[in-house]
Amino acid sequence: MFDTIIVGAGFAGAVLAERLATQKQQRILVIDKRQHIGGNCYDCFDDHGVLIHQYGPHLFHTDNKKVFDYLGQFTEWLTYQHEVLALIDGQKVPVPFNLNSLHSLLPKSLAESLELKLIERFGYGVKVPILELREIDDKELKFLADFIYEKIFVNYTAKQWGKKPEDISAEVTGRVPVHISRDNRYFQDKYQAIPAQGYTQVFQKMLNQRNISLMLNTDFKDVFKLDFDTGKMQFMQSEFKGQLIFTGLIDELFASRFGELPYRSLAFNFEHLPIEQFQQKTTINYPNDYDFTRITEFKHITQQITPGTTIVKEFPQDFDRNDPNKNIPYYPIFTDENKQKLDRYLDFAKQFENITLVGRLAENRYYDMDDIVARALQVFDEIT
Ligand code: FAD
Ligand code: UDP
Repeated sequence: MFDTIIVGAGFAGAVLAERLATQKQQRILVIDKRQHIGGNCYDCFDDHGVLIHQYGPHLFHTDNKKVFDYLGQFTEWLTYQHEVLALIDGQKVPVPFNLNSLHSLLPKSLAESLELKLIERFGYGVKVPILELREIDDKELKFLADFIYEKIFVNYTAKQWGKKPEDISAEVTGRVPVHISRDNRYFQDKYQAIPAQGYTQVFQKMLNQRNISLMLNTDFKDVFKLDFDTGKMQFMQSEFKGQLIFTGLIDELFASRFGELPYRSLAFNFEHLPIEQFQQKTTINYPNDYDFTRITEFKHITQQITPGTTIVKEFPQDFDRNDPNKNIPYYPIFTDENKQKLDRYLDFAKQFENITLVGRLAENRYYDMDDIVARALQVFDEIT
């Protein structure tokens, strides 16, 4: 009945479904255990009519024209440039830490001398990951690196990951490098915009094809079986001879045969307030205060005009497959030890010719939305 079954209706699954259905006329089934499409990018209106991102704030940014043009087939764009402040020593300063943050937090003469040194050493406009900056041999710059590390990174990372910055992949803190610049934007990508009608509508347009069927509220394990010895697949008790594209947890697909991979979960606490605006920027980070990491106010992103406003606080927590409040694996945990386990899974997966693994969870990678769209487009080229 189906040429390809896709597990997961996030960007990985939706892009591949759309491409295979429209470019190769394949009959596609998309299965998702949630009751909606869109994966973690899903947005919807809350009870007060405010457009919210159910699984945390999603800001689209990319330098990849191919990705921007591809998604542009399904949406108009609303220009939006993200800015974040962090509460440090009672002051709200730009993050990534930049020259403006430096001048807000340190005495004038010290800030001026550090600015000169940074520019001399690295150049204006350059981004330096905090773990690299800490390696520096200059005494004054080392003082600055330690200051930023302590004030911005240590406690936030402890909350977010339950770890020290140096105990997770350098890629993680490297996402928010020290920026030797006065540009307060979170991202410098060429294309920064959000879908004018929200993300969910993009997914609706992508998946609303004659030859794409959706099976929501369905855990793939309840309808799909894979025989690890023979590679034979079964869908609803009948043999399935097509392709499986899997975007869920790689360890779950293979029944945790090499042990469970660890993930980090989050609890989102949404609050609606009867005021027009709660905070001056979209997101305020709280590295050193409170149990949550950040507060985001959605109206700044969506530019919606409503009398009230909705904010969300993010409380990181351990992932627990058996606890309904903790069983969403938002982030794979990127450590050397986990990488070794992951490699065993990826190696094992190679023997199943009819199975393609793609996505944040299936590949265990810190893909942003543009990365995963690019990756899915690449996979489409590879498998067709
Ligand atoms: P997902 O969107 O997670 O989709 C996977 C789907 O598989 C889910 O719908 C899930 O229900 C389904 N699934 C899993 N297991 C099963 C099963 N057993 N049976 C059936 N279905 C199953 N990116 C940005 O570019 N900008 C941002 O600002 C940004 N902010 C983010 C904030 C947070 C808090 C998080 C967690 C991520 C953020 N991202 C952001 C990343 C973005 O969410 C991912 O790039 C994107 O969701 C990856 O798409 P995906 O299809 O790989 O995974
Ligand atoms: N980070 C931090 N302090 C901040 C912002 C980020 O320590 O104020 C670190 C933290 O380890 C975080 C990582 O940088 O997990 C990546 O931040 P990003 O904002 O990219 O995370 P995401 O949006 O994916 O949650």
